[in-house]
Amino acid sequence: MPTTMEQDIVATPQLAAQWARVRGRLQQEFGEVEYRSWLRQMTLVGLDGDEITVHLPTRFLRDWVRSRYGDRINSLWHAENPAVRRVDIRFGQATGPISGAQDGLGESLAPPPIAPPPMAPPLPVGRGRERNGEPRSELNAALDPRFTFDGFVVGKPNEFAYACARRVAEKPSSAGFNPLFLYGGVGLGKTHLMHAIAWELRNHEAGGAYPVTVAYMSAEKFMYRFITALRSQSTMEFKEQHRSVDVLMVDDLQFLIGKDNTQEEFFHTFNALVDAGKQIVVSADKSPSDLSGLEDRLRTRLSCGMVADLHATTFELRISILAAKAQIAGVPVPEKVMEFLAHKITSNVRELEGALNRLLAQANLFGRPVTLEATQEVLHDILKAYERRVSIDEIQRKVAEHYNMRLTDMFSARRARNVARPRQVAMYLAKQLTSRSLPEIGRKFGNRDHTTVMHAVSRVGQLIEVDPAFAEDVELLRRMLEGGMA
Ligand code: ADP
Ligand code: MG
Repeated sequence: MPTTMEQDIVATPQLAAQWARVRGRLQQEFGEVEYRSWLRQMTLVGLDGDEITVHLPTRFLRDWVRSRYGDRINSLWHAENPAVRRVDIRFGQATGPISGAQDGLGESLAPPPIAPPPMAPPLPVGRGRERNGEPRSELNAALDPRFTFDGFVVGKPNEFAYACARRVAEKPSSAGFNPLFLYGGVGLGKTHLMHAIAWELRNHEAGGAYPVTVAYMSAEKFMYRFITALRSQSTMEFKEQHRSVDVLMVDDLQFLIGKDNTQEEFFHTFNALVDAGKQIVVSADKSPSDLSGLEDRLRTRLSCGMVADLHATTFELRISILAAKAQIAGVPVPEKVMEFLAHKITSNVRELEGALNRLLAQANLFGRPVTLEATQEVLHDILKAYERRVSIDEIQRKVAEHYNMRLTDMFSARRARNVARPRQVAMYLAKQLTSRSLPEIGRKFGNRDHTTVMHAVSRVGQLIEVDPAFAEDVELLRRMLEGGMA
């Protein structure tokens, strides 16, 4: 009988490897900023019966991590090691047998080469419920409770993918939607939509609408299970398991590139399921045709259902997402702050969310209202990282090129509209992307007055509001400049 006494807590190299993977997942899912702010200081004490104990160095961190990440840490642990049923997050120093996580990101605990898992793979396929009344464990696999359709903010860049996902969740295996192939850059909501489909199907089932068996896993996990099955000579079992589900979802398929055996196995699984009228949902970072290294026959099959992409976010979508998340958190965030964040953090939703969470945490911690000043202060380090040093020269060059005007007209006195407007855009971008003051910017544009720059900034701002094509143009320029493609 395990007791709660420290000496009975077990910590093995296997546990350390699992912990490293859990941490890796957390880092991947919540982004660098959030991970470093809250999760990095967790240290693993060990396993006691079915309970994992994790330490954090302050009470505040403990409470914060418990309330915001507790469920997720739980489900990730359970997915890694089905024997783990609870994670106890405690306040304490790193006296446990497995620590060493404070330095960097737990590199010292890098996962070992693939080895058979200590437990049976967590993919039972029966339709029944487990004894304790919890839903089947393949659905426990690591579904994030926040990743629902309700929690997904829809805008132009993602409305198509959203609609397709909804459709599949409502009516799996409908003609034209099988397979559903979702693709897009990192942090744009692919995993969120896949989890949302799984939750929705699970709700249907709970409501007794129809029974469906859903398996959701990363391509990495698929491969891991497959290789494990090969080693333990249980490939028949593997095949049976994966081919008897109603809906198979494989996330981040690009991971299978170059893994020929696994790709082959996936291809067969895929065919068996589609032939049996079962639904497949796959995500990847590129479209099927751009996934080089994918076998042609698999590429063909992947493209023959519905291919939907998640586009880079627009300013409007970023604002809506911030507003939605601030509302959920119940913390008032001024419009100015949201605009500031939406302007500065354009890379993806994950980073945007990370920045907002950090802001909200500070507001909670110090009981201070969220203001623009506080935002700049709290996010100082992130914003600096985002501020790739874009020079005004670079901006002028890129904008002139984009609008097909002579560079010298950036400095000239000409006021013809086809010259004046791009010049205003360049001034606007100079204000947004550099830390130069208005007079400094004016000087760079043929010694213009700072009021001229101010006017340009507000004029372009207005146009962005009313003219979507213009807004898109400016957004594109911004991205090119920020992304270093200038
Ligand atoms: P991907 O799998 O494409 O890399 P994720 O689905 O993991 O991205 O999304 C990253 C984070 O951003 C998640 O926390 C997710 O909830 C959030 N997110 C992405 N798109 C949206 C959206 N449209 N509305 C709300 N949250 C979103
Ligand atoms: Mg993902």
